[in-house]
Amino acid sequence: MTINVTKPFLPPIEEYGEYLKGIWSREWLTNNGPLVNELELQLKRLLGLDHLLYLTNGTVALQLAIKALGLRGEVITTPFSYVATTSSLVWEGCTPVMADICPRTLNIDPDKIEEKLTEHTTAILATHVYGNPCDVDRIEGIARKHNVRVIYDAAHAFGTKVNGRSLFSYGDVSTTSFHATKLFHTIEGGAVVTPDPELLRLMAQMRNFGHVSPTEFGAVGINGKNSEMHAAMGLCNLKYVPDILAKRRILSSRYDEGLNGCAIRRPEIAKNCEYNYAYYAVVLESEEALVSVLDVLHLHNIVPRRYFFPSLSELKYVHDQSAPISEDISRRVLCLPLYNDLSFEEVDMICRLIKRALRY
Ligand SMILES: *Cc1c(COP(=O)(O)O)cnc(C)c1O
Repeated sequence: MTINVTKPFLPPIEEYGEYLKGIWSREWLTNNGPLVNELELQLKRLLGLDHLLYLTNGTVALQLAIKALGLRGEVITTPFSYVATTSSLVWEGCTPVMADICPRTLNIDPDKIEEKLTEHTTAILATHVYGNPCDVDRIEGIARKHNVRVIYDAAHAFGTKVNGRSLFSYGDVSTTSFHATKLFHTIEGGAVVTPDPELLRLMAQMRNFGHVSPTEFGAVGINGKNSEMHAAMGLCNLKYVPDILAKRRILSSRYDEGLNGCAIRRPEIAKNCEYNYAYYAVVLESEEALVSVLDVLHLHNIVPRRYFFPSLSELKYVHDQSAPISEDISRRVLCLPLYNDLSFEEVDMICRLIKRALRY
């Protein structure tokens, strides 16, 4: 049996079946259906948010945010993220400008953001890496001082709180993903969150082809709507979120114990936060160490993920930019298996194998 880096959470099939019966009786599959509305409502209530739009995926969420804010020119962003963070900028005609990361937290370094500001900068797009919050206070200060907008790619951030508030509540827009591999998922799915009701209205139009009414179009739109079947999975999964968060925390401390004394480093979690334990990342001493760990784990059908790799500064459509810290870390970082029904025995075995590979 293979142990992958992640395994999607599945609720009891009967619970999903109940929602399907409702869908069959209403014969309403998509286009702002009752389950989509219910999911948006429950998410806002659970996370204490004013505005949230449920979308097809986290990549469309990024594209919608960039489009609705009318971004052009240069957007300062992090090289240490999933490819969608950078590709969305390029897709929307913006130029990504890479500000290197802080080697301790692996999040974008506010000092490096300041160095990269020019008169062409229109926004900052930062990722809360592994659910660990960026320095939101400093980033907000920089943005206000230089009159640029802030988007957070909060795809990893479900359940993390900063200063007692959901991490989704920061920035002009926060985007997130509810993909099957994420801590909370709706199979495919995503959302945008904003404190600004005008921006919300615009993004709501844009998610539905720009429709204001059946015959009127208020803006250039796209199809970013999600379906009743997807929302149903979200409604089923939502009530397991407290269990999922608690389980991840326990499994993470089990890894901490098992890997104690190894030559690995772990990202430093922000002090003012309630962390969601979305990923268990380890930074090894060298790429050779990483390869030997991978070899031993693969031999035992354990498949961690080189995440994030490569550094986005090395994408062939990102020209002439270097981010030495991100490039160095991305070559030696691994996310270890972490999912709801991973057992202590499996974690212990993974730790033993890592120690063997590193010759302890
Ligand atoms: C998963 C992820 C995305 C993309 O979300 P999808 O829902 O898969 O489109 C974007 N950014 C980050 C950091 C992610 O982890």
